[in-house]
Amino acid sequence: MPRELLLQVTPEIAANELLLRDYLSKQIKVSPKEIQHVSILKRSIDARQKAIKINLKVLIYMAGEPFQETKIELPIYKDVSKAQEVIVVGAGPAGLFAALQLIELGLKPILIERGKDVRGRRRDLKAINVDHLVNEDSNYCFGEGGAGTYSDGKLYTRSKKRGDVTRILELLVAFGASDDILVEAHPHIGTNKLPKIIEDIRKKIIEFGGQVLFDTRVTDILVKNNEVEGIVTQNGDTILANKLILATGHSARDIFELLDKKKIFIEAKPFALGVRAEHSQELIDSIQYSCDYRGEHLPPAPYSIVKQVNGRGMYSFCMCPGGVIAPCATSPGEVVTNGWSPSKRDQVTANSGIVIELKLEDFKPFAKFGALAGMEFQKSIEQKAWHLAGETQKVPAQRMIDFTQNKVSADIPKTSYVPGTTSVEMGQVFPGFLSQILREGFKEFGKSMRGYLTNEAILHAPESRTSSPVRIPRDPITYEHLQIKGLYPCGEGAGYAGGIISAAIDGEKCALMIAETLK
Ligand code: FAD
Repeated sequence: MPRELLLQVTPEIAANELLLRDYLSKQIKVSPKEIQHVSILKRSIDARQKAIKINLKVLIYMAGEPFQETKIELPIYKDVSKAQEVIVVGAGPAGLFAALQLIELGLKPILIERGKDVRGRRRDLKAINVDHLVNEDSNYCFGEGGAGTYSDGKLYTRSKKRGDVTRILELLVAFGASDDILVEAHPHIGTNKLPKIIEDIRKKIIEFGGQVLFDTRVTDILVKNNEVEGIVTQNGDTILANKLILATGHSARDIFELLDKKKIFIEAKPFALGVRAEHSQELIDSIQYSCDYRGEHLPPAPYSIVKQVNGRGMYSFCMCPGGVIAPCATSPGEVVTNGWSPSKRDQVTANSGIVIELKLEDFKPFAKFGALAGMEFQKSIEQKAWHLAGETQKVPAQRMIDFTQNKVSADIPKTSYVPGTTSVEMGQVFPGFLSQILREGFKEFGKSMRGYLTNEAILHAPESRTSSPVRIPRDPITYEHLQIKGLYPCGEGAGYAGGIISAAIDGEKCALMIAETLK
């Protein structure tokens, strides 16, 4: 039987197979030659002490012990081209994993996506970064792979169901992700690797008889006697099916408006909102690793911070070590920030959303919009920021200490945000109570992370698409919409996921629920 061991080693030993073998042989008092193979089961960084350690969980196979390299395989898919059709709207993680699961269950997905395929999308990302042009169907949020495609690809989630998480991670590995994601405590994939994985998922869906339609925006959902009949696209084409997974993400405002107009029950949902802060990665490394130089064996340091300020949670969100701030607007006339990183996280800057939890009562000034009040509140801030920064894709920016002191920054250095910044007193972007919490909160952050509160850090506004401002309510057991039969609200847009992994899990669950009803 291979021996399982938990150990703490230096980053250098953890990064070098020979050194690790040597170390283990001393620990278990055998010669290194007697160790046939070491499998790493889990890896995490312990940066609590000055001398940083790597926690490892390993399996040691001694010479003569049976050992076989395990290869993660895809499930067995069968051709579904003639099977019952299910419409899936949105090719984000929720829609893609719903489609794969439907095929596994012998059902035919018709996957409908308003945006372009991953390659076509690149041109539109360039247009928003360089020419300040926002394509309403193809941008950082819309297009094949959804909002997660050009992201940091962080794959951790608060989901407690480890089995579900492992299944999604294994599928990603089977589609080409590094198997390190199965081992790391905080796995991520990176913007450069995600598009190929997503492309391969799409090819598999088509290979086994699923249909994938790009450049196809759903503009209506056909409903008769409170039952789904199909959808209508922007060209007026109709696609009929009585099962519909609606996985359109948190930025599909036209879908929320459509549901509201058709009196399909939706409700306002609190979300979080704030700014995106950028520091040099070197500074974050020095704070997190208590060192002047990170060295070659430690990854660029992430951070995670939560504070209660004036009775509200203020916390870091979607932190991207070695990453870049991206323009994530989905309509002209607004600006939105978020962040991405390449797989090596080798950019010189570190950015993170720093957001405050909102409450439904904050949306009161927009009460006339009913269930869309939170969405209108969000929109108003994005539009105000666009206006204040000069009505391009430039964003309002301010140095961090200047912000805490209500002082317009005399200058803003070049940041990773390619469209550029305009020096603005950030307090103008947000309602007064939010600016006040942010100001207090940054001072608190500075006390917990010495060096964090610095004028070298640049705040960009707004970070506003943290989760959906709307929930599309569904039955907790069947996942079917509470009012409309055959409609399965799914993923982040419906309010049932937050992030790539949880959206993928939710997509699979919706597919499973549909298969249940068809038994
Ligand atoms: P989405 O990914 O939003 O997908 C919805 C899809 O529906 C889109 O492709 C959209 O084009 C399509 N759609 C919308 N309306 C229509 C319509 N009318 N007709 C047809 N199609 C439509 N999460 C993480 O876990 N880790 C990260 O590191 C991370 N980084 C991020 C970085 C950026 C820049 C962004 C924008 C997001 C990031 N996220 C990250 C969040 C993550 O991407 C989302 O949580 C996740 O993609 C939600 O999945 P989803 O399938 O529910 O929705």
